[in-house]
Amino acid sequence: MLFTTFLFNGIEKIGALREASGMILDLSSIKELAEINSILDLIGAGDSALEVIKYHLENKTDAEFIPVGEVQLLAPIPRPIRDIICLGLNYKDHAEESKSFTKEEKTVIEHPIYFSKMAAYIIGPEGEIKSHREITEELDYEVELAIVIGKEGTNITIEEAEDYIFGYSILNDLTARNLQKRHSQWLKGKSLDTLTAMGPYIAYKGIIPMPVSLSIESAINDEVRQKSNTSKLIFDIPYIISDLSRGVTLKKGDIIATGTPAGVGMGFNPPKYLKSGDKVRCSIEKIGTITNYVK
Ligand code: MG
Repeated sequence: MLFTTFLFNGIEKIGALREASGMILDLSSIKELAEINSILDLIGAGDSALEVIKYHLENKTDAEFIPVGEVQLLAPIPRPIRDIICLGLNYKDHAEESKSFTKEEKTVIEHPIYFSKMAAYIIGPEGEIKSHREITEELDYEVELAIVIGKEGTNITIEEAEDYIFGYSILNDLTARNLQKRHSQWLKGKSLDTLTAMGPYIAYKGIIPMPVSLSIESAINDEVRQKSNTSKLIFDIPYIISDLSRGVTLKKGDIIATGTPAGVGMGFNPPKYLKSGDKVRCSIEKIGTITNYVK
C-alpha cells in the first residue's frame, strides 16, 4: 500500500493510492478510521487500521475516492516529530567523490556517520525549493531512501529491525554546501527552509521485501545525475536501525534518510550546483517520483 497526505479543496487529508485506477482513497470517508487524521496517527493505529484500508482498496464500498490529478500531494509527514536522522557517506561511490570535501583520505567507513536535519515543514513532491541565493551559491541535491519507523524501540537487533519499520519514502536531502563546510557541523547547511523534500508516498513495508533492493535516481533538468541501487548501501537498513537504536529510543514516525549515491553537484569538476528555475527530479522504484523546482 502507498500512503499519502494531500490537499483537497483546501483541506489536508490522508489517503491510500489505488494504483490500478490512479485514485486516492480518502481515509476521512471511512467511519472506522475517524480518529486517524495524519500519517502519524495511522502509524500509531496498528495493523487493524491497515486491514480496514486494504479492504476498501480491494472491494467496492461506499468509501470516497479522488483522482490523484485533482489533489495536491504533500509530504507524507509534512511536520515531523523531531529532526530527521541522516546518514552521511553511506554509498562507496559517494564517499569517493566527497573526498575533497571531507578531507578524509580513506573511504572505508567503519561506523555509520549520523547527523540530523531540521525541517519544521517538509515540502511535498511538487513543493518549491527556495534558492536562498543571499546566503548560498552552492545549493545541492541528494536523492535518498527514507525509512519511516513504525514502532518505538531501543536496542533493536538486526533480526528484529523490520518489525520496527512502517515503510519507505523518497527524501531529497538538499544541502547548502558552503554552509555545511563553514560551520563544521552540518546542521545549518542541511536545514535551511524548504531543503527537505519528501514523497510522493510512504510505501508500506509489505510491498518492499528485505533486503531492500530498489533502483534510485536523480535528474536535473532531465539530465540523469545519480543512478544506483539501494542494495549498495554500505550500512544496510537492519544494521542502521540496530546500531542507531543502541541506547537511543527510536519513535513512531521517526524518519531516517539512508544516504545518497554518487552524482551530487559537488562531485563534478566544476561543480554543478542548482540554480533558479532548475527542475529537480528524484525517483525510487516502487515509491514513485518527486519533482521540485528551484525558485
Ligand atoms: Mg544526505
